[in-house]
Amino acid sequence: MPELFELSLLEAQKLLQKGEVSAESLVASCISRINATEPSLGALLARRDEEALEEARAMDKMRPADFSDKPLWGIPVTVKDALTLKGLPTTAASKILEGFIPPYDAMVVQKLKDAGAVILAKNNMDEFAMGSTTEHSAYRATANPWDLSRVPGGSSGGSAASVAACQCFASLGSDTGGSIRQPASLCGCVGIKPTYGRVSRYGLLAYASSFDQVGPLARTVEDAALMLQVIAGHDGRDSTSSPVPVPDYAAAMAAQEDLSGLTLGLPREFFGHEGLDKGVSEACEKAVEAARGLGAKVAEVSLPHTEYAIASYYILAAAEASSNLARYDGVRYGHRTAAPRNLEDMYTSSRTEGFGPEVQRRILLGSYVLSAGYYDAYYRKAAQVRRLIRQDYLDALEKCDMLLAPVSPVPAWQLGHMSEDPLQMYFMDIFTLSLNLAGLPGLSIPVGLSEGLPVGMQLLGRAFDEGRLFLAGDKLTRALGTHNLRAPL
Ligand code: GLN
Repeated sequence: MPELFELSLLEAQKLLQKGEVSAESLVASCISRINATEPSLGALLARRDEEALEEARAMDKMRPADFSDKPLWGIPVTVKDALTLKGLPTTAASKILEGFIPPYDAMVVQKLKDAGAVILAKNNMDEFAMGSTTEHSAYRATANPWDLSRVPGGSSGGSAASVAACQCFASLGSDTGGSIRQPASLCGCVGIKPTYGRVSRYGLLAYASSFDQVGPLARTVEDAALMLQVIAGHDGRDSTSSPVPVPDYAAAMAAQEDLSGLTLGLPREFFGHEGLDKGVSEACEKAVEAARGLGAKVAEVSLPHTEYAIASYYILAAAEASSNLARYDGVRYGHRTAAPRNLEDMYTSSRTEGFGPEVQRRILLGSYVLSAGYYDAYYRKAAQVRRLIRQDYLDALEKCDMLLAPVSPVPAWQLGHMSEDPLQMYFMDIFTLSLNLAGLPGLSIPVGLSEGLPVGMQLLGRAFDEGRLFLAGDKLTRALGTHNLRAPL
């Protein structure tokens, strides 16, 4: 008999709904797992053990007669610290928000609660979601549960590590340039960046608003699909949220038994990339073979502007970040310097003390590319390149139903290995950024191991085609035996 925390979300859901396990025992099982793993993992910031247990006990006393609008009833989850949760410190892993207690729930947090989920804790992350390793957290680095000397990826590294280590059944992260897909890949779990506008960002602390999307991480594709079902949909409080109706993802996954009739495109620029590690490349080849075995057609496609994605993304994202982070001025909330000499010094010192080095680097870069005289050369040019990159995707996705691509060029690397070299770290994002530039959805699934470390692949789709990504991801992970991986921690 496995421990309760080892079940998948859907398995736990079944037992809860049949009354074979109580919400309290499930929450207690996850809390004991957290207590055992957290000292070495560091996946969490603020916790709410007592409140979660109390909520679960109350739920057990008032079991609903019908679970149809409570699909997450009694399920313990965690959420990235970039999302507000009423009454619990929310910091985006920054010192500038130390002690900030939001007076409201993010829309997605509200939706989790409405669906019956029990929120256990906030996840560690790179400060303001800027980074690819979670080492830029102002509080602590998170370790990879497959090898504690390695990074879990980032910026949603706390979410991925927490899910992979079975501290919870699912988590919410955010993806601006890969921050859900890349840590999911490095930790051997599933993560989806939905289409831009699919999920409300009300209550998400903004990094780069024309890119940011909230999405789930889980151990199986079905679990991630259920989580997205719960959080997706229009929200009048987020003007970028889309009115496109949310389809039934479970039905989409059950639409066919195999992948026949689907054409998967392999972007030449990704698979031929000089930085692609041999182990990653071999695991990807096996996944492509598995897709063929399931009846899919496979075709080579081209995304010709790929080599400009990193430059374009880092200019645009930094520009938007410099504007979004102007609100942290020491006046309204967050950290304020102790004894300012005057108003100017209050702003400068509060921000200098509150923001970490990576965030300061982005603010400087962003202010520079937006300044008079440089705007046309950098910001405008990057925006034009962005349009070309989006067109690459639209063209490729006309010829095929979805693209299949590596997520990270290498498996999880050693903690500290790249933290002193920001440019080297930016290069690690080569396969994830362009999808955010295009605003399209991407599902990261585990496809195998390379020297004991997980390798992920992403399925990249047309706008609002998440259902078919789930279908393909579910069939592929089952065929590859990576359907429900858990870290050997
Ligand atoms: N690594 C990228 C960055 O640092 C992406 C981060 C993200 O998606 N939030 O900007």
